[in-house]
Amino acid sequence: MTAGSQKVKRIMSGMRPTGRLHLGHYFGALLNWLEFQDKYESYFSIVDWHALTTKYQSSREIESHIWEIALDWLSCGIDPGQSTIYVQSAIPEIAELHLLLSMVTPQNWVEREPTLKDMVKMLAADETEAHEKVTYGLLGYPVLMTADILAFKAELVPVGKDQESHLEFARDVVRRFNHIYGVEYFAPPSPKFTSTPLLKGVDGQKMGKSYGNDIKLADTDADTIKKVKQMITDRTRIARSDPGHTDLCEVPWPMYQVFAQDIKDQVKAECESAQIGCVDCKVRLAGIINEFLRPIRQKRNELDSDRDRLRKIIEHGNAKARKVAQQTLTDVREIMGLSRWY
Ligand code: SF4
Repeated sequence: MTAGSQKVKRIMSGMRPTGRLHLGHYFGALLNWLEFQDKYESYFSIVDWHALTTKYQSSREIESHIWEIALDWLSCGIDPGQSTIYVQSAIPEIAELHLLLSMVTPQNWVEREPTLKDMVKMLAADETEAHEKVTYGLLGYPVLMTADILAFKAELVPVGKDQESHLEFARDVVRRFNHIYGVEYFAPPSPKFTSTPLLKGVDGQKMGKSYGNDIKLADTDADTIKKVKQMITDRTRIARSDPGHTDLCEVPWPMYQVFAQDIKDQVKAECESAQIGCVDCKVRLAGIINEFLRPIRQKRNELDSDRDRLRKIIEHGNAKARKVAQQTLTDVREIMGLSRWY
């Protein structure tokens, strides 16, 4: 951003604290956030109530995940001087807005949410299980997500091209709220489309912490080498002397595209002429990934050894975010005619 210019739009995004972040989070979200914080007034939320919608049985673990996610964000360059970093549950106004919006949201809007259907499938193997595991809280998550955005009157929400429906729900709720109460108070948030490169895990599936195939930002060099060595390569290459095929190489070759564009021609030539074996090729890749992550890991270790500083950063963000949400709730209560008892 040029000196003196103003950030005119507000953007809001969040992550569920369910564990340490991995390379997929870095390239899929955090890289975009780094760009946003320079251009927009950025609100980044650690959405612990969203984690509870599916992890309610292990709720005591969420606290430590909040610290981990804050460490990951800050070590990747999310700057508390530019962005507001806060914990969702520290802003009770979001919960109140969720409640108020749930009163105006038709039940069938919630039930038809495609993401909810996916979550139900993921949570329960059969229908009987689904009845017990899909809680009232999970059913209401699209309304909670809407409250997350509207509490800060965010104008932009980053979404992938395939996730536009997530935001359409929030936009519908905004229109309905404004229509019922005869106001133009909330503006429908707009999607900020982001490109999210699909980063494969070591097994060739989508990288995800629940699949156990991820490379975490906070992994040690040795962990990373071990994991990279497990990457699925070209399944047709049996012997070391067989020429490899980069187009059939499932994980290392796509990773080279992300981390080492500058040597991809060299890697391709060495692979296809069998000058290099897959083990050596993966060891080299692990070294490149470790070099890339070195400054992030160093910063993370520094911050981790000063939890007091980390706590202050989060508390500062919580206070800043709460002030904004309090004003929104004051207005919403007024619009709905509920201010008398506050
Ligand atoms: Fe993949 Fe490298 Fe093996 Fe070629 S040599 S198949 S690029 S791991």
